[in-house]
Amino acid sequence: TGGVCAEMRTPRRFLVLINPQSGKGQALALFNNHVQHMLQEADITYTLQVTEHQNHARELVREADLSQWDAVVIMSGDGLLFEIMNGLMEREDWEKAIQTPLGILPGGSGNALAASIHYYTGSQPLSGEELLVSCGFMLCKGLVSHLDLASVCLASNQRLFSFLSIAWGFVADVDIESEKYRHVGAARFTMGTLVRLTSLRVYKGKLAYLPAEESQAPPSSSSSMSFTDGSNSSLVHPRNLNCQNHHFHNSCNSNNAHKPNWTNEAPVTMRGPPDSLLVPLDQPVPTHWTVVKEEDFVLVMAVYQSHLAEDLIAAPASRLDDGIIHLIYVKAGISRPALLHLFLAMEKGAHLSTNCPFVVYVKVRALRLEPYSPKGIITVDGEVVEYGPVQAQVHGRLARIIAG
Ligand code: ADP
Ligand code: MG
Repeated sequence: TGGVCAEMRTPRRFLVLINPQSGKGQALALFNNHVQHMLQEADITYTLQVTEHQNHARELVREADLSQWDAVVIMSGDGLLFEIMNGLMEREDWEKAIQTPLGILPGGSGNALAASIHYYTGSQPLSGEELLVSCGFMLCKGLVSHLDLASVCLASNQRLFSFLSIAWGFVADVDIESEKYRHVGAARFTMGTLVRLTSLRVYKGKLAYLPAEESQAPPSSSSSMSFTDGSNSSLVHPRNLNCQNHHFHNSCNSNNAHKPNWTNEAPVTMRGPPDSLLVPLDQPVPTHWTVVKEEDFVLVMAVYQSHLAEDLIAAPASRLDDGIIHLIYVKAGISRPALLHLFLAMEKGAHLSTNCPFVVYVKVRALRLEPYSPKGIITVDGEVVEYGPVQAQVHGRLARIIAG
């Protein structure tokens, strides 16, 4: 696992997307000062596109002729990459589009994927501009690895693709409340954590999951080791045989009152691989799933990469394409000092070995979360999504990323 799957040829052409609003609002200057000359020396030509509004990048990659570029690079926080992933998966040719090598340069305040990729190289932890330079070097080397995605289903039938996390409770609240401190950069999460600790509360809901050891790895997208330049077009992907026209019953239906009554009968056309591990949200989870007996939580987070922020290592054992959702939850009853201790330990990824009886860590392939309270915050990759029941499953190696 974690194996490099291809090395790109030189010369290379990148599309670089920059969010001018991300982080301290300096992403463009940081790119010009630290990355531009590196790319030139590596014989990489690029088209620079500064995003003008939210979802601009998503619309752009949904329509773009992707064959023009060897990679699409994001200079922003995780939010802009989330747009790109979903834009690619909304395309008719999603299966090929999502194989486009992606690159990430930390230009935001939440740079969890960039920090994860640097962490997997095994070199000493870096942050800020040093992390940016490290990620710039990885782009120049151009080693392409597989990346797991998760498909996330919401109550309204919406389906999203996620590369990082689902969060509810303390972590989700901190993430969103701290956006107003974006100007302090990555320190916004530490500030947000301290503020939230003073109003610590309990979140009620039902959590269930499919343990990884109980289940086979879900089908991975492809074992091909080829480039995106068309050379893989002759390969037959196993999934093409099973899911020929990509139409299938989706698993996102729920007992939503606004649901048109045909959704259970008519096949809903959705792009992306079928969620073979999930049943519709209005049906009970399969009997071989584990239902958590506690219903009072302080936080629930499901992460597929190591970092939750530049200095928060939520799942130290995670790898780019381990096919695993690392589910970590904290039960109600934990004291404020113990929770603070946990977050301080998480800066080194040591929180799972503190033997805190309120912390549970399991490796899963799929999960379902049903909050009881009518209002609240759920985030996917740090972005707010519709609040309500949510379920997800991992799709191993669905995307590709330039990593160390
Ligand atoms: P940060 O890490 O600072 O939060 P993100 O990359 O996560 O940076 O971006 C924050 C939000 O800004 C995301 O929701 C993204 O979709 C949105 N966004 C992208 N481009 C723009 C833009 N040009 N103007 C405003 N918002 C944008
Ligand atoms: Mg963000």
